Amino acid sequence: MKIGIVGLGLIGGSLAIDWRSLGHTILGVSRRPSTCEAAIARGIVDQASCDLALMAEAEVVVLCTPLGAFLPTVDQLLPHLSPETIVTDVGSVKGWVVEAIAPRWENFVGGHPMAGTAESGLDAALTGLFQNCIYAITPTAQTPIRAVEVVTQLARSLQAQVYQCDPQDHDRAVAWISHLPVMVSASLIASCMDEESATVRSLAQTLASSGFRDTSRVGGGNPELGVMMARYNQAAVVRSLQGYRQQLDAILQTIETSDWDSLETLLGQTQRDRPAFVDPV
Ligand code: NAP
Repeated sequence: MKIGIVGLGLIGGSLAIDWRSLGHTILGVSRRPSTCEAAIARGIVDQASCDLALMAEAEVVVLCTPLGAFLPTVDQLLPHLSPETIVTDVGSVKGWVVEAIAPRWENFVGGHPMAGTAESGLDAALTGLFQNCIYAITPTAQTPIRAVEVVTQLARSLQAQVYQCDPQDHDRAVAWISHLPVMVSASLIASCMDEESATVRSLAQTLASSGFRDTSRVGGGNPELGVMMARYNQAAVVRSLQGYRQQLDAILQTIETSDWDSLETLLGQTQRDRPAFVDPV
């Protein structure tokens, strides 16, 4: 199959590597000529260009640019495609992406592989990045079945597990498990830095160990990614933060009032609930 990939970075490059190794022909479009040249030189793609006209021959086109470039890219891309071309994307937010693209392209299937690293760009692309990951796809009632099947098969060929869900539900779910944790973890670091005593703050930095390493990791990551999450999934992130604030207030109250039984009940419940998120059956 001829697969077009627009945006040869971490995700686009990693998809290209795996699909090409399975025998597909990969046509890549990226913003910078140097990225296109590197992708050809490293055998990641068969052909590459900065011109979206290269996508005219593709049977499936995968949008892998940053979310902010999606709509201008689609505007320029669609006139090059024949109507049967299947378009999909890998964006981490699905509601507005599906709402914006599906009415303009019948054969559009929203997608989001739940895999990544802290790195970005073509140099960060990896073999086998999607192995054993969940690959969410978000078709609507109007999405042609064949388009859903083709995207499902391509995702499964990466040894990913395909999971279908509603685009808005997807955004609310990733707000809880991906976007809220970044804001909570960043708030944790910022709160520690607000400690008035320089002695205590410095001691905290010296004593910090694995617990702080775990809980601060996502708050200490790339600021652009955090802003992207809040900007493109604003309503769901606000909703999750409000829910989180309520929980924080409830915990605060148990501690201020020395209500240790309630605190133990709450922490016992979270201890029982955590495996459903991190070790699902
Ligand atoms: P990335 O490593 O920064 O790659 C994106 C690449 O797109 C850039 O390297 C850039 O390449 C190219 N690009 C930028 N603007 C472009 C344009 N207008 N036209 C064509 N190419 C353009 O980012 P990423 O992490 O792969 O993320 C890409 C998409 O995957 C995003 O929509 C994100 O939501 C989604 N996603 C990310 C992760 C993750 O963990 N990172 C996980 C799942 C999904 P050059 O400038 O070098 O040409």
